[in-house]
Amino acid sequence: MAARSSDRSHLDRINARVIACELCPRLVAYRAEIGRVKRRAFRDDTYWARPVPSFGDADARLVVVGLAPAAHGANRTGRMFTGDSSGEWLYRALHRAGFANQPTSHRSDDGLALRGAYITAAGRCAPPANKPTTTELEACRPYLIAELKCFLARASPARPLVILALGAIAHAAACTALEACRVTIPRPRPRFGHGATTQLEDGNVTLLASYHPSRQNTQTGRLTERMLDDIMRTARKRLAATPRKNRPGRTVPAKGTRPPTT
Ligand code: SF4
Repeated sequence: MAARSSDRSHLDRINARVIACELCPRLVAYRAEIGRVKRRAFRDDTYWARPVPSFGDADARLVVVGLAPAAHGANRTGRMFTGDSSGEWLYRALHRAGFANQPTSHRSDDGLALRGAYITAAGRCAPPANKPTTTELEACRPYLIAELKCFLARASPARPLVILALGAIAHAAACTALEACRVTIPRPRPRFGHGATTQLEDGNVTLLASYHPSRQNTQTGRLTERMLDDIMRTARKRLAATPRKNRPGRTVPAKGTRPPTT
């Protein structure tokens, strides 16, 4: 099914609001300062240094929720998960799973296109130390809610939706945003763990959790390419699943799940 032009224009309008946003004084100052000072390796680049819009296919059935742009990654290139090692991991995995037309993501004009996937984030501005405050996440939440409403509106037994949260903060942000979209989230809230899945909306929607492909997680071996491939395989299976077989509201942790982490 082709994306409805109304969905594309709705998502474009949300992105336009995001790009112009100046609600968080600390982040407005930080993103601009990073763009002015730059990292030596990127001194010839013109940094984006603004809020980073979401990226992908308006017809997506896989919605990836990240944490926030990296100072010298997406804050530099202006595209989600582009220009840093987290993005290299994520896009390689999306490409292996058939969601991306190429495995690399270096610049916003590199020809990368997503098929059936859309990438958004809990926060749209690069935060110091990769840590947005609770207030900043709250300020940014309406954008995520607006996007999820758009994708949820099309979820059905014949068209399941998977929301993949990368890290504990993105997982919590997704739960809160889904509740704001009037999706019933089980209580107690689904516990974050790599591979944890929660069936929502009579099984039409799956909330799937993965460790974030941060350098800290990938360099320590907490997250491997194989583990990320397993997540993509689970997403593919859920997208192809017959919702009646699923069990709404049930969270299934993955085998060997470690304690919550980002
Ligand atoms: S983090 Fe979100 S709410 Fe805050 S300034 Fe950036 S786009 Fe606006």
